[in-house]
Amino acid sequence: MTLNDHPLVPSGRQEAKVVLVTGASSGIGAATARLLAKGGHRLILGARRQERLAVLIDEIRRDGGTATSRALDVTERGEVAAFVDAAVEEHGRVDVMINNAGVMPLSRLDELLVHEWDRMIDVNVRGLLHGIAATLPHFQRQGFGHFVTVASIGAHQVSPTAAVYCGTKYAAWAITEGLRLEVDPSIRVTTVSPGVVESELAESITDPAAQQAMRVYRAHAIPAEAIARAVLFAVEQPDDVDVNELVVRPTRQR
Ligand code: NDP
Repeated sequence: MTLNDHPLVPSGRQEAKVVLVTGASSGIGAATARLLAKGGHRLILGARRQERLAVLIDEIRRDGGTATSRALDVTERGEVAAFVDAAVEEHGRVDVMINNAGVMPLSRLDELLVHEWDRMIDVNVRGLLHGIAATLPHFQRQGFGHFVTVASIGAHQVSPTAAVYCGTKYAAWAITEGLRLEVDPSIRVTTVSPGVVESELAESITDPAAQQAMRVYRAHAIPAEAIARAVLFAVEQPDDVDVNELVVRPTRQR
């Protein structure tokens, strides 16, 4: 038996799925889009930086994949609804919604960077809720669907400068777990919690002390493709298998 024939390794030979990814213009979202497109799935990508999405779409199509994109700010409920509805109109259904968009402007609470706290709540929590609100009615009507939330190890442990970020990720974890418990059993729900991963996430940090701490913390970052593989694993399981949670850290991260 070769590794590819092993029953625990998803075959990649399933029917192509229609997959939406928020925050697909860089990092984990972009890597997930690339990998799922290579697996033959049809991607609809959203983020604010359309020029970045256009470059990614070109790359995916050059490699033989299928992808389209749409400008998307997840803090705007109407934009998220339009993003999902357009995909349903074009493809007739949505199979997977990957709520990945996130920001992480870390700082100590006593720095009182309240506008940055607000931004994390808006993107990481309200953005996730908007994604659920836009997709859930379609999944219920279809009688199938798969939510994937990209949370964080910050959904499981708190560290100084990350109180608000971790608060948003604990919330993302709790919302996603509540969703899993509430939805029709034909709908799958997965939380993927990455450890430190190469991406542009730390670029949103404005606080100098948090920036310095992050440089040390990120020394062992793993490529975003490592998280993309975890998402692909969950997505390509048979319909009666729901991978509820995956925590993926660099081996060297404690
Ligand atoms: P990046 O900064 O590279 O990517 C973040 C993505 O989110 C970008 O595509 C960005 O696109 C998008 N985004 C930000 N704000 C909005 C918005 N308002 N509307 C739509 N899209 C938005 O970081 P990562 O790839 O690392 O982050 C992806 C997810 O992974 C986040 O949820 C993050 O919290 C999580 N994560 C990352 C870890 C890491 O170490 N990298 C560890 C644990 C979790 P644009 O700016 O174009 O809108």
